[in-house]
Amino acid sequence: MYKRVLIKLSGEVMCGEGERGFDRKNVEFLVRQLAQVVEYGVNVGIVIGAGNIFRGEELIDLPHSLADQIGMLGTVINALYLKGILQRVGMKCVVVSQISSLPSIRPIHYDDINLYFDAGYVVIFAGGTSNPFFTTDTAAALRAVEMGAELLIKATKVDGVYDSDPRKNRDAKKFERLSYRDAIKLGLKVMDTEAFSICGRYKLPIVVLNFFEDGALLRAVKGEPVGSYISP
Ligand code: UDP
Repeated sequence: MYKRVLIKLSGEVMCGEGERGFDRKNVEFLVRQLAQVVEYGVNVGIVIGAGNIFRGEELIDLPHSLADQIGMLGTVINALYLKGILQRVGMKCVVVSQISSLPSIRPIHYDDINLYFDAGYVVIFAGGTSNPFFTTDTAAALRAVEMGAELLIKATKVDGVYDSDPRKNRDAKKFERLSYRDAIKLGLKVMDTEAFSICGRYKLPIVVLNFFEDGALLRAVKGEPVGSYISP
């Protein structure tokens, strides 16, 4: 169905909700989910957050810009870790970033990214947007547009977009489909307004799904109904 997708993973997929660091079971599950998608034959770009390490907003004693830079470095740690575990199971994988010249990280270069995809590599974008004051949701929207993705998948801990928090409100209503405009107008917190705005401008659809549901990522890539579908 899709040839190229960008998957946005929260750092928490590494450790489980509300935990820190890297949990072996979670990491194995993550590898299985990504392997299913890669084996299906689609080009996969990944933006990973740093919720399992540091989010800027948690470091309240520090200036915001400094705390965010620490958060961005967290995404680099996760990207390198992810690359390592994907390579261990034989998947081809490259980490690209504008904020790091570590020996295992390559610069973001559009022509090269196409070459990586053509050669069957998973491309992990580390370091967010490279700017403080943003989140990895916005980075995901930006990188998705840059790499020519046809779909942005936000893999999160709820199975879609609701009109209120389904964990607090039993009557919360799930949207199967909605538009960016509705998402922004209703103030839905599933993604940043900046991310919606970039996707809206470049007509990039988003699927929001529960990462912890086995096979959900693959279903989204196949174009099967899963989670919530947000369209222009
Ligand atoms: N961050 C940033 N600029 C970006 C992306 C991320 O400053 O373009 C920082 C910000 O502090 C953020 C942290 O990196 O809190 C980790 O990203 P995020 O909160 O999106 O991670 P997630 O919640 O997806 O795990």
